Amino acid sequence: MYPNLARRGFLAAGFAAAGVFAAARRPVLAQTAAGPFTLAPLPYATNANEAAIDAMTMEIHHGRHHAAFIANLNNIARDYPALASTPIDDVLMRLSQAPDAIRTALRNSAGGHANHAMFWEIMGGQGGEPGGELKAAIDRDLGGFAKMQTDFNAAGMRVFGSGWVFVVVTPAGGLSIVVRPNQDNPLMDGQRVLMGNDVWEHAYYLRYQNRRAEYLTNWWKVLNWEKIAARYEAARNGTLRI
Ligand code: MN
Repeated sequence: MYPNLARRGFLAAGFAAAGVFAAARRPVLAQTAAGPFTLAPLPYATNANEAAIDAMTMEIHHGRHHAAFIANLNNIARDYPALASTPIDDVLMRLSQAPDAIRTALRNSAGGHANHAMFWEIMGGQGGEPGGELKAAIDRDLGGFAKMQTDFNAAGMRVFGSGWVFVVVTPAGGLSIVVRPNQDNPLMDGQRVLMGNDVWEHAYYLRYQNRRAEYLTNWWKVLNWEKIAARYEAARNGTLRI
């Protein structure tokens, strides 16, 4: 029922073998054109998450931090143009196949792009609690909604330095809470992200300064459970990408 992501990533026609990471000859003239990667607009106003995140933080976080990951991907794609046609989830699942020269840059920029695209998608809501099959899965695997919140926030507090806390859908279909440093994404370990919170200081410092616990607590007020439930359904169907 659930695709074995690690196996799929390992067995699928590798983009290294297919020449995806063959370096292009550098053009004589520097290319300044934007793309191929673009920053999608926020799906709501910058003050839509005011219950947890102020508008200026949203503007800077999306318009500068996420934009920087897009710019870095475009820089890599200038030398490795086939990157443009490689799904980001494939890039993240097969980082080990990337050339040494760009592996770290890809890890940071593709991971950062995937993490932030997910982050914008799951907010803009009114909080509350999920229902249906997602609620059943949370009850089964995470001890219920209240325990999930407590454990997720505690995990977010344990991130030392910059990183993320996620709920992932494992290859076997179960839910699990994981943390990752920097801009690492669980796809690097074959796990799909159901939801996740950014605990880099840039995500909360303007309003909360060092009060990360308060940010983690408030964040639940702006989650869009319809979006997260749709991600869960897509993960189960094998159609969830990043
Ligand atoms: Mn961030």
